[in-house]
Amino acid sequence: MTASTAGTRLLGALDTEHLQLYYGGGWHDAADGATFNSYEPAVGKVWATVAEAGPEDVDRAVRAARQAFEGPWRKVLAPDRARVLLRIATALEKYQEDLAQIESRDNGKPIRETRAELANIVRYFEYFAGMCQNVLGETMPEAGPFFTYTRREPIGVVGAIIPWNSPLLMLSWKLCPALAGGNTIVLKPAEDTPVSALVFARILEEVDIPPGVVNILPGYGARAGDALVGHPEVDKIAFTGSTVTGKAIAAKASQSLKLVTFELGGKSPNIIFADANLDEAVKRSAYGIFSAAGQSCMAASRTLVQRSIKEAFLARFAEKARAIRVGDPLQTSTQMGAQTSLRQLNKIKEYVEIGANEGATVLTGGQSPQGSLADGFFFTPTILDNVDNRMRVAQEEIFGPVTTVITFEDEDEAIRIANDTQYGLAGAVWTRDVKRAHRVAAQIRAGTIWINNYRVVNHLMPFGGYKQSGYGRENGRQVMEHYTQLKSVWVDLQEDMPDWYA
Ligand code: NAP
Ligand code: MG
Repeated sequence: MTASTAGTRLLGALDTEHLQLYYGGGWHDAADGATFNSYEPAVGKVWATVAEAGPEDVDRAVRAARQAFEGPWRKVLAPDRARVLLRIATALEKYQEDLAQIESRDNGKPIRETRAELANIVRYFEYFAGMCQNVLGETMPEAGPFFTYTRREPIGVVGAIIPWNSPLLMLSWKLCPALAGGNTIVLKPAEDTPVSALVFARILEEVDIPPGVVNILPGYGARAGDALVGHPEVDKIAFTGSTVTGKAIAAKASQSLKLVTFELGGKSPNIIFADANLDEAVKRSAYGIFSAAGQSCMAASRTLVQRSIKEAFLARFAEKARAIRVGDPLQTSTQMGAQTSLRQLNKIKEYVEIGANEGATVLTGGQSPQGSLADGFFFTPTILDNVDNRMRVAQEEIFGPVTTVITFEDEDEAIRIANDTQYGLAGAVWTRDVKRAHRVAAQIRAGTIWINNYRVVNHLMPFGGYKQSGYGRENGRQVMEHYTQLKSVWVDLQEDMPDWYA
């Protein structure tokens, strides 16, 4: 693997570095001295040692966040909060390349994807800087001798728990609205990818943000994550990850009636009608499932193709999949990197076997590449053909570069199959017929629909799930509803108030 650019404080000598917890504006070892390792999935080796937060550290970090919330951060006015977010955006831009390389090494994503993500993340901070001064209340029409208005106030301490598939992007999706709303935050990155979030904390040191406003605590879900969800001083939990873990967190958070938002799994239908532009559909369907090596909540993991074009589409789709360059994430020519963990790689292999046993055919891919990539957690782009929607590979989230091909006869059948799932995160419709495009978009029960595209998201458009894909929305101005509370204020305008008991 190529060495990362040396010289900046951000990277330091990361290969040998021990990374500490960041809370209360300082760096700390875990109270019990525990540490864990982070792997570089492309080479299958440990590349960083990280302090592992336990309940005691969570308690200290939450207290720091509470103190910052009650104290200095409460007094920072909206225009000044906006400036903090803009300073973060500027610093992120400065260290963009370093951060992209760190993310690629820790997560296994190709550098061309992490560079694009970092450019995107800068936009998030800029947008939410503007949001600080756009969290508005309302005045109501007069319905009595009252002046009535609402205020949007911060919730308090936000506990954020994020996954390993896009660590810095997921961090930004939580951090930006939390800060814009005037909250403080304690964030636990995933155990598989703790490094970039801690490096991000180094950036915070440069931008002069009050201690305790942002706290980053790497650790295990069952210890640090669980302690965060259970902590009485945490007012809200924002979670992205699996539906199973989401349900466990929902149950635990209900004990103290914490506010919660969940962005969970998906099994999204990518519907290709016979009248679609097949070249475009092939290009973007490939991106929909093979970008992020398929480790994406919104992955195009069910490819629904109209029977009359199935062969024509699949021939081109398989050719596209075979041509994807899998390899070293740090090479700009690489198009697909490694799976993030060995656990994840094994899960994907198991699902391909399950599919074969259920009667699916491996049209292309289905194994790990050998040779120079043999030590890394790589898997080839995979298309499973002849899948029935009731098979496990069509119902369960594989979270890898594996799509399942299901055929349909007509529009009604396409919609029925698309909705025959516990999930409802996203979906796409490929057709040249404008009426059909909107009809189908309206009938799919999912939070995001793309017409003639797949897997585009940005800071402006709300994102989130129907059904078991979660609740609440991230991004856009709508996310602020989930990071503020609404207060109703009544002002009585009468000089001489009638006496009810006269
Ligand atoms: P996960 O268990 O949902 O993990 C997500 C985050 O939750 C991690 O930070 C995890 O910590 C933490 N966590 C786990 N158990 C917790 C608990 N009891 N209380 C509080 N926090 C807890 O997901 P995973 O095990 O890494 O991946 C399993 C599957 O989830 C994947 O194969 C995929 O199907 C799905 N997934 C979906 C998304 C998405 O974007 N929707 C993202 C990732 C994974 P640890 O890192 O220590 O486990
Ligand atoms: Mg790692």
